[in-house]
Amino acid sequence: MHIAIIGCGQLARMLAIAGIPLGIRFSFLAEPEEDSRCVDGLGNLVRRIEGPYQDSLFEQLDSPDVITTEREQIDLALLKKFEGKCEIRPNVAAFSACQHRHREKQLLDTLDIPNAAYVYGGGAAAAADALGSSMVVKSCADGYDGKNQWILRSPEDIKAFDAARADGRDAPFNGGGDYIIEKMIPFEREVSQLSVRAVDGAIFHYPLAENRHINGILSESLVPADADDSIAALAQSYISRIMQSLDYVGVMAVECFVVGDELLVNELAPRVHNSGHWTQAGSTTSQFENHIRAIAGMSLGSTDCQKFSGMFNLIGTERPPHHLLSELISIHWYDKVPRPGRKVGHVNVRSDSREGLEETLRRLQAANIRVLIDK
Ligand code: ATP
Ligand code: MG
Repeated sequence: MHIAIIGCGQLARMLAIAGIPLGIRFSFLAEPEEDSRCVDGLGNLVRRIEGPYQDSLFEQLDSPDVITTEREQIDLALLKKFEGKCEIRPNVAAFSACQHRHREKQLLDTLDIPNAAYVYGGGAAAAADALGSSMVVKSCADGYDGKNQWILRSPEDIKAFDAARADGRDAPFNGGGDYIIEKMIPFEREVSQLSVRAVDGAIFHYPLAENRHINGILSESLVPADADDSIAALAQSYISRIMQSLDYVGVMAVECFVVGDELLVNELAPRVHNSGHWTQAGSTTSQFENHIRAIAGMSLGSTDCQKFSGMFNLIGTERPPHHLLSELISIHWYDKVPRPGRKVGHVNVRSDSREGLEETLRRLQAANIRVLIDK
């Protein structure tokens, strides 16, 4: 079995590290300038050249049995070129829906899955009539870590946004492009549901993770989330509906807002996800191994979990902070060139209690490992 991964960042690295013991061979497809240090030594690296798709690309990748990707922002035309040559898992329809905010919202609406009220395109003043004056504008493509978003909280913000539109630039984002305007949700917490679906349709769920962000970047995840069982049941039913409707194969993450006894879906990730990294230490089968097992057509592994697990992102640090290791703490370092704001590794934590988990996460935060790069 040979799997090619589009992308060569940390997710590609951790997928390969999980798949190699299963006897699977890997190739990686990199963009011309993409940093490929994460996957050094893990398989065959093929660098795309600028310009249209090369017919020899499939052969250059050494004719894989399956193609998967580590990101949703990929060229659908590129993906379609592999159709008929090998399995594409998840399929093109899943990437098409998940890489564009409006198509994603339409999918949720079609499936009757609650999400934040929104309008597609148009002016902010008109949107405010329907949504209220607290809104967030999101570009339909290329959003991650809170980038390409514009928060509107006041009449002045709304005027400034509409002035930018009227300024000849149809959309206020880099290079233009379409956008949605979404109602700002006063949520109690952010959670994500991570599940995996096999070729035969079997679906296994991981417990709901609670996610905390700093400056729009995921800082830490705690599992299980501090939420009622009814919320967890909603999350599982929504993700099952989405996966079944797309005939999805592999791991998917659904990010949600908890508001009282309601769960609103925020966005979908058709891939392994940062909020599932804790599964490497906290579950019998990690999200990476289960993605590989699913797309390779194998049986899924158990998603049974330790009592309490957490994940703390290492952002912009210079070297693996080995002094943090303990019997319940493990480190995953990505071998990336560190830059401020860049995810370069993560720390997985286990505990017997929620309090113990919180206490360890606060200790990690207090260790101030994030500022190493500035010294
Ligand atoms: P990611 O890195 O997860 O891909 P992203 O940039 O694609 O993020 P979102 O997840 O939609 O975009 O938004 C980033 C963060 O902004 C969310 O985690 C949430 O904290 C906040 N946010 C987004 N939409 C809303 C909303 N409608 N109401 C309140 N907060 C929101
Ligand atoms: Mg998000």
